[in-house]
Amino acid sequence: MRKAKIIATIGPVSCTLRALVNLIEAGLDVARINMSHGSRQEHLEAIQNIREASKKTKKEVAILIDLQGPKIRVDALKKPLALKQGDVWALGASSRALKHPEFKHNFIPTAYKGIADKIGKGDTILFDDGRMAVKALEKNQDIWKVEVITPGSLGSSKGINLPHSTPNIKALTPKDHDDILFAIENDCDYLALSFVQQKKDILELRDLLAKHHSTIPIVAKIEKSHAIDNLDDIIWASDAVMVARGDLGVEIGNHLVPLFQKKIINRCNELRKPVITATQMLDSMTYNPSPSRAESSDVANAIWDGTDAVMLSSETATGEYPLETVKMMEAIILEAEKEPKKRPLLRNISLVNVGESVMVAASVVAEKIHAKKILSLTESGMSCYRISLFRPQTPVVAITNKIETARRVSLYWGVDALLVHALDDSLAPADIRDTLLSLVCKKYSLKSKDRIVITRGGGKLFATGTSNSLKVEII
Ligand code: PEP
Repeated sequence: MRKAKIIATIGPVSCTLRALVNLIEAGLDVARINMSHGSRQEHLEAIQNIREASKKTKKEVAILIDLQGPKIRVDALKKPLALKQGDVWALGASSRALKHPEFKHNFIPTAYKGIADKIGKGDTILFDDGRMAVKALEKNQDIWKVEVITPGSLGSSKGINLPHSTPNIKALTPKDHDDILFAIENDCDYLALSFVQQKKDILELRDLLAKHHSTIPIVAKIEKSHAIDNLDDIIWASDAVMVARGDLGVEIGNHLVPLFQKKIINRCNELRKPVITATQMLDSMTYNPSPSRAESSDVANAIWDGTDAVMLSSETATGEYPLETVKMMEAIILEAEKEPKKRPLLRNISLVNVGESVMVAASVVAEKIHAKKILSLTESGMSCYRISLFRPQTPVVAITNKIETARRVSLYWGVDALLVHALDDSLAPADIRDTLLSLVCKKYSLKSKDRIVITRGGGKLFATGTSNSLKVEII
């Protein structure tokens, strides 16, 4: 069984029921919907198809809604702007364009009114994920004269990055608010918050979710240099973390991405939070049926760094080979996992917590007795979250009667979900045991004399945070 999880972005080439069934069968665990693209209707159809494909394949899949966040963008243009090396342009809020007729034909507009105050003389300003760059020459009242350093064609809505400044923009835009309500209404399983800069950004989203009685887990996207400065606080405040290498590369420079990828993954492993490595992992497979050597090494290295999940973007959203890409990712992970990373040190684990101790013990016992599976009876998935972060070598099965839990655990390293409705507290203990073993033997083809380790709480069959017992069963 593969331990690290595969997240695939769903887009025009992968949103049909048929395409989703194929992707899930090939190994997709979490379907990502990027709210920067597509219409509400398209998002709704994708969600319905993911749920349907999940039923057809009998595999629970989580839906991750990735919020667009406060990205500064070029405003709507009549036609793309031809930025030629050495040319001087003006950059400013769209509302200022008419006040500067001298720049009538070379004005780069943005809807962000405060942009002029966020730029300093000599700053580099990047467009379209760093494909184009200009240098700030001088401020002219409320706009900046800039010189083109890296030329290109600049279209409407392309991103603008100001690597030197902290734009004082709220973490959640009005569009994000609408998208969050949409995610809640449609029972989505994870929310990714873009351009997180500080812990406060996560808390703001958590407060908003609480107001709507929602506990959707929050994934903090690390893509700003300020997020790196506040990394520990952000990791503590969030439920999972994403190394969003696209915007991160634009912010800090591509040469620093590998170093920070390792640092972020390492810190998440130490602080015991799931971490996702994202963007351009098998990028060339957007147009080619096989990846470059560098890309397969990139995926394997992320696994050896200790990532919990790897993510595909344009490869599966708009690429020509979405299915081949997921299959390739699965093959690379399986090979990489034959050489597992050393597990996190016990000193980072709070063994005074009963639930935590039981899960660590289950993991060690299962390895020593060569158990085939660890079965964890769980309501919220908390016990599986804990054991996953200890990196058990024995595959874990989250046995739950809650569909939300079964979906949520699909992001957890080394954990598979088994949704059961045939078990409840009205059954006698012997019947619970027999039913459980027969379900598991059938699904995982277990044989006579195979050993399994079972963890559960002492009270109700499925209860949150109560795991206090560990039992070994021999089939
Ligand atoms: C990234 O920047 O790497 C990322 C995952 O975010 P997005 O795809 O929204 O740019």
